[in-house]
Amino acid sequence: MGKRNNMNINNLIRSNIKKLSPYASARHEFTGKAEVFLDANENPFETGFNRYPDPLQIEVKKQISKIKNVAVENIFLGNGSDEAIDLLMRIFCEPRIDEIMILPPTYGMYKVSASIADVAIKTVNLTLDFQPNVDEILAAEVKNKTKLLFLCSPNNPTGNSFDLKTMGYLVKHFNGIVVIDEAYIDFAEQESCIKWINKYPNLVILQTFSKAWGLAGIRLGMAFANTQIVNLLNKVKPPYNINQLTQKVALQTLENQEQTKGYIKEILKERYWLELALGDLKFTKKVYSSDANFILVEFDNPRIVYDYLAAKGVIVRDRSNVILCDNCLRITVGTHEENGILVNCLREMI
Ligand SMILES: *Cc1c(COP(=O)(O)O)cnc(C)c1O
Repeated sequence: MGKRNNMNINNLIRSNIKKLSPYASARHEFTGKAEVFLDANENPFETGFNRYPDPLQIEVKKQISKIKNVAVENIFLGNGSDEAIDLLMRIFCEPRIDEIMILPPTYGMYKVSASIADVAIKTVNLTLDFQPNVDEILAAEVKNKTKLLFLCSPNNPTGNSFDLKTMGYLVKHFNGIVVIDEAYIDFAEQESCIKWINKYPNLVILQTFSKAWGLAGIRLGMAFANTQIVNLLNKVKPPYNINQLTQKVALQTLENQEQTKGYIKEILKERYWLELALGDLKFTKKVYSSDANFILVEFDNPRIVYDYLAAKGVIVRDRSNVILCDNCLRITVGTHEENGILVNCLREMI
């Protein structure tokens, strides 16, 4: 597995982005302490939110830095991980020339984001046990054209983690940027790949406040990478991409990490219970084991199950049209009460 460390990211960056002089906001140009701020055309009257927010969100990053054991300069914050995905697309992929690679079945946003940017999408399906097909990936890659490889681990919608050695091998041998989307890592038994960011210049790890932290509504996503990639993300992002309300709520929540740990513990307990309860039903064909906060379940007739549940007011996600997920529904782990309602409905169905 030797190789890498010497990879030059410069050859992957679009030339317009290399040349770009970023917008310099008032808060960029003067960052010191002062008595009177008359430089940003803000309203001087105190509303609680009359000032522009910190463009680099340093206080929030300091807290994240402690919790994740990653330096502040290796952290980028986006308006959801979806913003980081979009920015990576625009930094590295030349529209109508470059391409990205995704491994279906996977998160839908990579494809949508590429399509909006007019970037082609190469797909290499996961193996039957939902792992990356290394040989096919490396054979399908076109050097200096396949710019981004998205690995979603734990993967949505299958719920499993990818093998750590496989991911390490791909980071070393893929000639573009490897993005490991760890949106569900807080529910996983497998460890995060975050510790690799300073070893590999072409690695980006995505995490989010939308799942374990319980803050999908504030729109806050994290990207962890070496400083070269973090600097590029900062250069291209809208100047004030994380608003003051979001920064405030994130800081409060980060100070109360015990609450998040409590959520995770409870969700995991419920996931184990749901796995057993769903497995006991006569018409479930397979309950896939999960490293996330949802479970992929194969049914004899998923449409009938979906419609029956919907009529009872219980909504799950129909994934039966997704490749390798024939006859599957994706069920998010809810509270103990919600999971009880779901299972009771299903038991009554027989
Ligand atoms: C939910 C999810 C996200 C989160 O996206 P946000 O924009 O941060 O809410 C990212 N990746 C995957 C695979 C997800 O399922």
